[in-house]
Amino acid sequence: MAFAAAILIVLVVGDFASTFFYHVPQHLWFTLHLRTHHDRKRSYWDHAVLSTNFEVLLDGFLGAVPYLVVAGLTWHLSWEGSLLGLVLGQLHVWWRHTTELGWKTPQWVRAVARPLQIVLPEDHDGHHRNPDIEFGDIFRFYDAPARALLAKLAPTSRRTRNAAARRAKQRVPAQA
Ligand SMILES: [Zn+2]
Ligand SMILES: [Zn+2]
Repeated sequence: MAFAAAILIVLVVGDFASTFFYHVPQHLWFTLHLRTHHDRKRSYWDHAVLSTNFEVLLDGFLGAVPYLVVAGLTWHLSWEGSLLGLVLGQLHVWWRHTTELGWKTPQWVRAVARPLQIVLPEDHDGHHRNPDIEFGDIFRFYDAPARALLAKLAPTSRRTRNAAARRAKQRVPAQA
């Protein structure tokens, strides 16, 4: 019981923390994740799995910190479950980046994953194609609240600030 609970907590709470305390803030205010995870010039299989580039590894590590913290908290409950939760989380990282290698999720896996709201490689591929959709690395039920939060905080985002700065710059020659 404690074993299964620890696995679930690491994955569900870890993904929650990683989504809302790392992934969403990165999309709003920072550039590291956008320069690495959403770099269209690079294969994402390469940068999610193979790359040894420092920034790529840093993005991966920072995204993993919330899972590690949660696993630290569930360690006393069941260290085996906590550890397995981390291993499953890592396996899911590799799996969700396989679309580029031609992976197609079999129908039966889809049938199992859909009711559990587990992110399929095809879903995560959507986040790479359009960084504004498909939040939640492991669970899709984090997508809607993540997008709602992004929308709420959009006025404070880099994107909004940069757009305002560009508009201001364009206005200068017009006035001159
Ligand atoms: Zn990815
Ligand atoms: Zn992202």
